[in-house]
Amino acid sequence: MPASSGNTARQCLLLRDFKPAGLCATPSFALHIAEVLAEQGGTPEPLGLRYGIFGAEPWTDGMRRALEAGLGCPAYDLYGLSEVVGPGVSGECEVRDGLHIADDHFLPEIVDPASGEPLGPGLQGELVLTTLTKRAMPVIRYRTGDITTLTTTPCRCGRTSARMGRLVGRADDMLIIKGVNVYPSEVEGALLDVAVPEPRAGSSRGGQAPWRGGRPPAGSAGAQRRRDAGAPAHDPALRGQGRSRGGTNVTEDER
Ligand SMILES: [Zn+2]
Repeated sequence: MPASSGNTARQCLLLRDFKPAGLCATPSFALHIAEVLAEQGGTPEPLGLRYGIFGAEPWTDGMRRALEAGLGCPAYDLYGLSEVVGPGVSGECEVRDGLHIADDHFLPEIVDPASGEPLGPGLQGELVLTTLTKRAMPVIRYRTGDITTLTTTPCRCGRTSARMGRLVGRADDMLIIKGVNVYPSEVEGALLDVAVPEPRAGSSRGGQAPWRGGRPPAGSAGAQRRRDAGAPAHDPALRGQGRSRGGTNVTEDER
């Protein structure tokens, strides 16, 4: 059931009314939904969600824990990109030890982001994909810009496809600090491991939802480049809520 993005109160209403088995969104928007649910005084259990599928931006295991607590269901990672197929290049199984690649459709490789040279199993580098079954717009050794690892060892779930690690970040997001490669997602992971005291109510942030160690900091890889999990920029404050809804919002001038 496509629900678009923004208007978080309506998203919460849809979750309550239709009780879907799963929720698919960007992790940052899903966490915002969970925060609004909590602000409305609800708990996630009555929603009856059985799974959450999240992608389109790098997210950490700390974010996973926050999502699972806020939505009351296991959170799974999903990966894809518009240039190749959209969502569905790879996804986590119940073991959640890497994302199974649909390698009957996509041939994955890992290369050195600087030199383009192929790297061995388990080494971190840039994901390169070749489509095997696309006809209209095949891509050959397409450099995704996404940093991850590959393994072909069998998964405990029994599936034998290649698996990619969770995204570390974008090749063009990497910072070199004192000779060490640092990705924004690593900063997020470190921050989520720190117990953050709740900001006091009535702070000077003018009603803006405080960051409680769950949402990616502004400027993270996800904020800069969103992939195809179905929800683009999500800040409800930036969205015209209720506009263009069959004339229900006609102004005096328009009459
Ligand atoms: Zn598996």
